[in-house]
Amino acid sequence: MTVTVAKADVGGWAGDASTHPDLLEAIVPSLDTRTESGGLLLDFVVTHVGDDVAVLMTHERGARSAEVRGAAAEAFRAAGARAVELKLHAATTSPHISYADMEFVERPSEPLVVIMTDKAGPGAFNLPLYRSFGDPFTTWGLVEDPSIVGGFEFEVTDLLVGKRAAFRCPEESHGLLGVLGRSDGYALTEIRSRAQPAEPAAVTSVGAHADVDPTAIVRAGPGFPSVGEVLEPWARPLLVPGPGPARPPGPILPVGLDDTVATRADGPPRAIALGFTLADGELVGPLDLFADAAFDRARADALLMADFLRRQGPFALRSTTERGPLMDAARWR
Ligand code: MG
Repeated sequence: MTVTVAKADVGGWAGDASTHPDLLEAIVPSLDTRTESGGLLLDFVVTHVGDDVAVLMTHERGARSAEVRGAAAEAFRAAGARAVELKLHAATTSPHISYADMEFVERPSEPLVVIMTDKAGPGAFNLPLYRSFGDPFTTWGLVEDPSIVGGFEFEVTDLLVGKRAAFRCPEESHGLLGVLGRSDGYALTEIRSRAQPAEPAAVTSVGAHADVDPTAIVRAGPGFPSVGEVLEPWARPLLVPGPGPARPPGPILPVGLDDTVATRADGPPRAIALGFTLADGELVGPLDLFADAAFDRARADALLMADFLRRQGPFALRSTTERGPLMDAARWR
């Protein structure tokens, strides 16, 4: 069984605020065709976060399947064609598509959480996924559940050179945190169970392109943190890197599906969390997990942070690796 999430920006509706509903309609017919009896896909769900359209698919073709990716690209082409007709912001029929794939044998009950971000850099999952899979103050099972007391293995990608390194936790957790904390240069790409080495626990969409607005697929329940423990780190405001060197970091808002329209300058970045259980490949869901009022305080705190950071104007914390045209035009001596 493989779960694949494909996400792309085929055109923003009113700037880069949101997705026009026509795009979500246009993307469905070709996926329907691929799901009919004996087809490529077992099931699929279409959604969006901000200006990104996402397709969640289940199938039996394995991770990085060219056929499945081809089907996603075809579906995004149809959505892009509608975006071009509507003259949406940066409309395109050949967008960059980011993928997250996870292959596993479906358990008797298989709870999955898919978290998707918009207006965030590739390292957005470094802190929340570490807290769920590495921090016993979030996940009590790490100190009392024999199936996870041995910890997890974390794979990190160096975004500058594209190299990967694995850290075994708990014993290498300090080294891991030293790297993850530099979330504009390093991004968490995969977490594996140590008790069951073939079992993937979480993957992100951060690939060779250091994809921005990343997605994570996370397994929950026995052998992993619970659904609540996967979500718990988002109950406190998180500062995440911006979606490019010229964009400042921002406080990410965990929001319900009705609150993904990012209208304020710089977003602020946001995340949605979709809960599913799998039933022989059928995606039973989605349950809108961040719609819970329990995340209200995180949202309020994140908005206070957004007020403060936005007030810094040109003094916002940004990388100097990318120089603006006015910087080069200045009369340097
Ligand atoms: Mg976006």
